[in-house]
Amino acid sequence: MIIVMASEAQEEDIQRVSDKLQEWGYDSHISRGVERTLIGAVGAPEGEKESIAEQLSRFPNVDHVVPILKPYKLVSRESRPETTPVRVGEVEFGGSRIGVIAGPCAVESEEQILEAARAVKEAGACALRGGVYKPRTSPYSFQGLGPEGLKLMVLAREATGLPIVTEVMNTQQIELLADADVLQVGARNMQHYDLLRAVGQTDKPVLLKRGFAATVQDWLRAAEYIAASGNLRIIMCERGMRTFETQTRFTLDLGGMAAARLETHLPIIADPSHAMGDHKLVPQMALAAIAAGADGLIIEVHPHPDQALSDGPQSLTPARFQRLMTDLRAVAKAVGREL
Ligand code: PEP
Ligand code: MN
Repeated sequence: MIIVMASEAQEEDIQRVSDKLQEWGYDSHISRGVERTLIGAVGAPEGEKESIAEQLSRFPNVDHVVPILKPYKLVSRESRPETTPVRVGEVEFGGSRIGVIAGPCAVESEEQILEAARAVKEAGACALRGGVYKPRTSPYSFQGLGPEGLKLMVLAREATGLPIVTEVMNTQQIELLADADVLQVGARNMQHYDLLRAVGQTDKPVLLKRGFAATVQDWLRAAEYIAASGNLRIIMCERGMRTFETQTRFTLDLGGMAAARLETHLPIIADPSHAMGDHKLVPQMALAAIAAGADGLIIEVHPHPDQALSDGPQSLTPARFQRLMTDLRAVAKAVGREL
């Protein structure tokens, strides 16, 4: 980090900072300019940097402290210039192939999940989604089938060969979801730090949704929690944030997604279903996300959206999903990728 002294700083202020740095184990390099003095500090333990920087910024006549490395070191592009691909079944998210995860919001019955799985497989999806633990805004809404639902997901995997993606809401559920191929951490749990650490201790890929009131920086630091616990198989997912706009369910932040791409080497996908909340608006934004550089998509597809127990209005029918996949192939090709 670099400590920028205020222009009024006296020799004793500079010395105070320099002495303190040495006490903390840093090497300090003082560079005296005409206007200001800068103190470069190198070589202290990683974990304490943020609190040390904060303390130093309150020292007399310290103007500000500039960190040199990002606070999300492991997931930052600085630490790895190339995208780190995350394999799910036959697709490597972050490679040249665009992966599309599709399926219903929630597993509702054997018939429903098998029908959905077969349809999305036929259309070219690379994985099946289906919630068995559902984080619903109202406690009176359908909460998911739990372990029974997971058994049905496993059945659907056996029937189609598609890997299964399902949401984990708390640390106890990790064990119950041992059969899942990908653990999804939902928008409402993006800052559930115990959960982030716990999924970081598994060897499963983690789909990390961006919280709907989280900045890109918050999202990157959430990913860092998972990485710091030992798991770098993280797929980031932009799913829309809350803004003043009420015409769509959320506001899909493709700008934030593009900005995050510059900051992290992790693959990033988009979820146009939850962002738009209306199946009529999902295809356009799915195409836009791929044009904007997304590595993949997660899309809600239900065999009978009008009967869905959750998120019916935003769910595509199998026929609509099939058409979207055809259009996606063209856009993927235009941006030098394939589906
Ligand atoms: C979901 O994927 O069904 C879901 C609840 O998503 P989110 O966490 O983005 O709201
Ligand atoms: Mn949903």
